[in-house]
Amino acid sequence: MRKGIAVSPGVAVGTAYVIHEIFVAREGEQLDADQVNAEVARYQRACEQTADDLRALIQKVASQVGESEAAVFQSQVTILHDAAFTKRVRNWIVKERQPAQAALRRLLDDYTQIFARISDDYLRERLTDIRDVIVRLSSHLTEVLKPGSNVLAGPLILIADELLPSQVVAIGDRQVAGIVTQTGGTTSHAAILARSRGIPAVSGVRGILRQVRNGATIVVDGRDGHVIVNPNPEVTSAYRKLQREFVHLKDSLATNWDQPAVSADGEAVDLLANINHLADATTARTMGASGVGLYRTEYLFLTHPDVPDEEEQLKTYREVIAASPGRRATIRTLDLGGDKTIPYLGHSREANPFLGWRSIRLSFEHPEFFAAQIRAVLRAAADDGKAGESEVQLLFPMISVLEEIRRVRAMVRRAGRTLDRQKQPWKQVPIGLMVEVPAAAVTIDSLLEVVDFVSIGSNDLVQYLMAADRDNPKVSHLCQPLSPPVLRVLDQVIRACHRAGKPVTLCGEMAGDPRAFLLLYGMGLRSFSMSPAFIPAIKELVSHLTRGDTRQVLQEILNLKTAAQIARVANDQLARLAPKLAILGTR
Ligand code: PEP
Ligand code: MG
Repeated sequence: MRKGIAVSPGVAVGTAYVIHEIFVAREGEQLDADQVNAEVARYQRACEQTADDLRALIQKVASQVGESEAAVFQSQVTILHDAAFTKRVRNWIVKERQPAQAALRRLLDDYTQIFARISDDYLRERLTDIRDVIVRLSSHLTEVLKPGSNVLAGPLILIADELLPSQVVAIGDRQVAGIVTQTGGTTSHAAILARSRGIPAVSGVRGILRQVRNGATIVVDGRDGHVIVNPNPEVTSAYRKLQREFVHLKDSLATNWDQPAVSADGEAVDLLANINHLADATTARTMGASGVGLYRTEYLFLTHPDVPDEEEQLKTYREVIAASPGRRATIRTLDLGGDKTIPYLGHSREANPFLGWRSIRLSFEHPEFFAAQIRAVLRAAADDGKAGESEVQLLFPMISVLEEIRRVRAMVRRAGRTLDRQKQPWKQVPIGLMVEVPAAAVTIDSLLEVVDFVSIGSNDLVQYLMAADRDNPKVSHLCQPLSPPVLRVLDQVIRACHRAGKPVTLCGEMAGDPRAFLLLYGMGLRSFSMSPAFIPAIKELVSHLTRGDTRQVLQEILNLKTAAQIARVANDQLARLAPKLAILGTR
């Protein structure tokens, strides 16, 4: 049994599929003599596909972002065609009968060792390009995630170092029962994606990639973060029973999808969905969301083969708006940097990427590119292809100071003037900011004067407030939303918004945690945006809550001094108010 961090609740039993195999080549694996030629041909095809990808990327980046940004990929083409690079991989396949993936892994190890001895920073950075080329090649050699391939049968448990957004998209509708990753915490993007699909997941399980082989039976317990490799038959059948109960609860709750969310004392509550893709908007509808409260547009860029231009963005935004429940969608502009990078925006290595050139700061550096996104949203808001008005809002991430939001407003005005000149239909939409930097939380009063609404990004707010990386398992004990400092700040921000009469939503992952929900409800919050999979359970929870009860619970909690005490009292209160939700577990 291995212990990690529980990041998406529920229980699953399935067959291991180890992905991103480039980083876990199994030692000693050899091809049969008659497989060698086919493997060389497979490698050759992967080279050609990678060259095609890079060619398309260079063209798009040059036209959409700039020539100098495209140069990064030109150097990757040079690496791909490097004679020594290709020769070594082919030799290992032919002479040593190594699978192409293993040969690439060996090459990466060799380069890593050589580069470790180089002191020049610029040259050392080239290793990133080599690694990128190898990962691209590898993705063309990994078959399980390609649509239509069927390497392993049955519900799969994905085992990975960290899931890349592109891999999650490739998973598509495949029957994925569970996810286990070596790195990442509760708000890492793999965790968020797992939750958005209601897939039990555990992260931060160090060394699991080396321990598990494809085809092994794996139990994922997303309630307490346990992973069991090849359990005995009794354990397997006990967990299968739990899995059935979990699925049953989810199915039974999802039948409330067409009911409004109303509290026990008759108050209406807005339960919105966080989405990363168009497909999630449909899930939001089937799960019973009243709209989309956060559309993370960066995933459109992260998963795009090259660069989506204004027209392509317009098309996607229109589709997302049309698919969102009630055609209500809050669209957030690019939130890149930190752990989500796209090389064409010129990302350089930084000592502290989460405190650096991230999010709105990065967008400001590429004003033309950023303006194209704003125009695409304003145009999509005017017309999503359906009759009647949609409700679209534009949300800006990681605002720290007043000057930034003023600058954003000026850009939106300019975008409107440009569209007028081009005679393009567009619509004025409410402008909001994300409160996810402590500086913004502290000065919320003055920021509220220049925005139409606020969305609290508690994932980042918690990590910045606690100075604890949200994806680092070593400090996850500090990155807790249910802690005295976090609850105090949230209470203050929510009060300030109410005083100013400005709509406020919380869109961090804590909105889907029943214990946190209870407290936020006690603070008077009535609008929440969460992974769609949590909506049925939270809707059920809402039906047990009253203003008076939750205020009382909150008062008790705000007097507590530690996170452990808060978790205990919140758990007890939850068990008292909604015992049926216990299997969803604590996080
Ligand atoms: C947040 O920070 O709480 C948030 C919702 O944004 P993201 O998780 O995309 O950073
Ligand atoms: Mg954030």
